[in-house]
Formats: sequence, C-alpha cells, structure tokens
Amino acid sequence: MKFLQAIIFFDLDNTLVHIKNSHNFFDNIIVQVFNEFNIPPPVKEERDRLWRNSDYKQLLRSWNFLDPVKFWISFDKLDLEQRKILHAQGDLRLFGDVIPTLVKLKELGNTYLLLITNSSLKIARFELDAFGLDFYFQEILALGDSQEECKPNPGQILLTLQRLSKDYKFDKRDVYIVGDSPFDISAGKNAKINSIWVKRWEKSHKHWEHKPDYIIDNLEQLFSILDLT
Ligand SMILES: [Mg+2]
Repeated sequence: MKFLQAIIFFDLDNTLVHIKNSHNFFDNIIVQVFNEFNIPPPVKEERDRLWRNSDYKQLLRSWNFLDPVKFWISFDKLDLEQRKILHAQGDLRLFGDVIPTLVKLKELGNTYLLLITNSSLKIARFELDAFGLDFYFQEILALGDSQEECKPNPGQILLTLQRLSKDYKFDKRDVYIVGDSPFDISAGKNAKINSIWVKRWEKSHKHWEHKPDYIIDNLEQLFSILDLT
C-alpha cells in the first residue's frame, strides 16, 4: 500500500482563483435568477444572508422562491457564462502563489491533492482547464444540482478519506483543508482534519464559528506547516 505524506483539500474560488469583485459578482447573479423567474428579488442586506445561512431552502422560500433546485441550476448556468466573460476580460485569474506551490507539492514526496468547491463541477472544470491546473489534482469534489453536500458539511471529505484508506496508508494528522472562507475552516473542523486559513481578503476570523488551526498569508507558507521531508 502506498504511503501518503499529506492529503490536502484545496478550496477553489478566492483561494486559488481570484474573482474580481466576487461579492458583487455573486450578488448580481442572485438578482438575475430572480428576474429570470419573474420574482421580485429581496433587498441587498437580505440577499447577503444566502451566503451565511445554512438553511438556504427556507431562506429562498421566505423570498417566494419555492424551488431551490431550479434556483441553483439557474444560478450555476449564469455563473459559468459570466465567469467565461470575466476570464476573457482578465478579471478571473490565478493568485501568483498557486503554481509555485503546486509545483513544489508535486515535487516533494507523496501528496494527494483534491479540489473541494461549493461551485458546480462544470465551473470547476472550466477553471481547471483555463488555468492548466488539471495536472496537479487527483480529484475534484464539486456540487451537483443539490447544495446539501456543500461546505461546511464534512460529508464529502469524510467519504473521500474513507475511500482513500482502502488504497493508501496515511495518518489523519496529515490531512488538511486550505481555504479563504469560514466555510472551509468549519468543514475542516467538522471532518476533524487540520484547517488552514489563507488570508486573501478577510482580515479577521473574530466572528467565525470555528477558528483555523493555522493562518497563512501566502500559499507558499504551507511548507512550514506540512512535514514533507
Ligand atoms: Mg473560497
């Protein structure tokens, strides 16, 4: 059985890929979905709750959007179309520390790298292709039409680790999630793996439900945390 020195789950958006004005980008898509279904969208402060509330079905219902599956299908379709436009404009790009870090991770020992994203598989695939990242990742964990498995739910992480344990030997202390948002950190905590917060935009985790185990300013600082020698 092959021994893995580290298993690392990487968040995609705003951890590896920089979306210009991402909050506005996603907020505009919410409004467009409501318009598409001729339902008046809630006000901005209300809409922001969609990113913080785990009971999105109930929230959508309270805004008179009764079919959450339709909501996310439409959302993901617009999201993909508009990311392609952003990419063409140069407003969707990789952070500068991504490729050097991935190259080094591949060079150093036996690591197993996964993407874990709350975006759709189509979006993850588009970004991997657009930035030539496919080579570095063994697996992509993305969402289908249902949002049930989205971070902070640890389900996808736990199932993956269970599956990997049949083919590989590893120590659970060598499993990490790296991400920019509180959902990444909570998913890590819920799965009882190490969580690493890469500070991209948010400057404080004071109001987060869970605190990260490690904090880095740059992905290259991962090598001071991981034991890959
Ligand atoms: Mg993110």
